[in-house]
Amino acid sequence: MRNFEFYNPTKIVFGANTIAKLADLVPATAKVLILYGGNSAKTTGTLDEVKAALGTRVVMEFAGIEPNPSYETMMQAVELVRREKLDFLLAVGGGSVIDGTKFVAAAVGFDGEPWEIMQKRGRNVKSALPFGTVLTLPATGSEMNSGGVIMRKSTHEKFSFMNRLVFPQFSILDPSKTYTLPKTQIANGIADAFVHTIEQYLTFPVQALPQDRFAEGLLQSLIEIAPQAMSMEPDYDNRANLMWVATLALNGLIGAGVPQDWATHMIGHEITALYGIDHARTLALVLPSVLNVQREQKRAKLLQYAERVWHITDGSEEQRIDAAIVRTREFFESLGIKTRLSEYQLGEESILAILAQLEAHGMTALGEHQDVTLERTRVILQQAL
Ligand code: NAP
Ligand code: FE
Repeated sequence: MRNFEFYNPTKIVFGANTIAKLADLVPATAKVLILYGGNSAKTTGTLDEVKAALGTRVVMEFAGIEPNPSYETMMQAVELVRREKLDFLLAVGGGSVIDGTKFVAAAVGFDGEPWEIMQKRGRNVKSALPFGTVLTLPATGSEMNSGGVIMRKSTHEKFSFMNRLVFPQFSILDPSKTYTLPKTQIANGIADAFVHTIEQYLTFPVQALPQDRFAEGLLQSLIEIAPQAMSMEPDYDNRANLMWVATLALNGLIGAGVPQDWATHMIGHEITALYGIDHARTLALVLPSVLNVQREQKRAKLLQYAERVWHITDGSEEQRIDAAIVRTREFFESLGIKTRLSEYQLGEESILAILAQLEAHGMTALGEHQDVTLERTRVILQQAL
């Protein structure tokens, strides 16, 4: 196992009817900005519940954070917080609202042009406003980590940033708040959590038994949760399991002390920035080919994945690895998620555009060994056609 530091200060409040606990979680004297997305927080009644729990505190609202939150939109929230001297942020939504809130928290007191936070990947953040979250979409893990992803519409840049100052103080996870999600978003959540786990697990093996077994447990849980989540009316236990798995997939636990890949995410971000395809859906386009192209580097772990996650034990090593990659692709397809660029009418010209974006953003040495060069990414994308 590699040396590591593990730090996660986010308090999780999990369960049905827990939004009322905001009354104790948010400081009594706080001047609060509630941030949310398009309409769902309003139409589902969650926003009213949140406001009721906040009681007589000073509360303002910022609506309209889009999926793939944009710098342009979030800067309006930064202005509002500065102008009204608000001192506590409360995100009500999915990963986009939470990531956008993290950016606002870091940008409000930032000395300089806040886009520099994204250009420096968060290393230059010196202070952040405190904030909490009410999660309505299990997917990203943003509710219990210190990362965020922001897109600058004007330049088609989608960058991630990290800083320990932007861990949420608390996150409320009420599984019944996911009942209103369309199946496409449930599918996205399952796929995103699956790939988060894979990016930290399916790397060059080190001896890290607990991390491996945790990761395999999360992957197997998602495989078990998926059919019911996709086919039935919302069920509390099914959603509770999905919600907690998605959080655990990216809260630092399984990634401590192990090499991490993230090539699939970095390539996926460029696909979203260029073509607007949902985050999770870009991952399903890229991951099967990454595993295929990196099969030598990942050989031992791919064989472990085949056996422990998919119970594949027959055949030669190559056949078992092939079968595991096929099962991975079929898993995404079972969620109604496309795994080929051509299914989005994207061809060779899109590969050139994605490669140009990666080069412009310095993403020329990806993966746990930094050996996913532009040339190798080209092969990955060609195999994804
Ligand atoms: P999202 O973009 O936050 O939300 C997707 C859609 O779901 C929105 O249209 C939203 O509608 C709707 N929605 C949310 N909750 C709902 C509910 N309870 N009922 C009905 N509709 C609901 O989706 P996400 O997958 O959670 O977040 C994706 C973003 O997170 C991407 O930008 C991705 O890059 C980023 N990400 C971050 C991390 C991280 O660690 N920070 C990791 C992976 C990905 P409304 O707008 O109307 O509310
Ligand atoms: Fe993700």
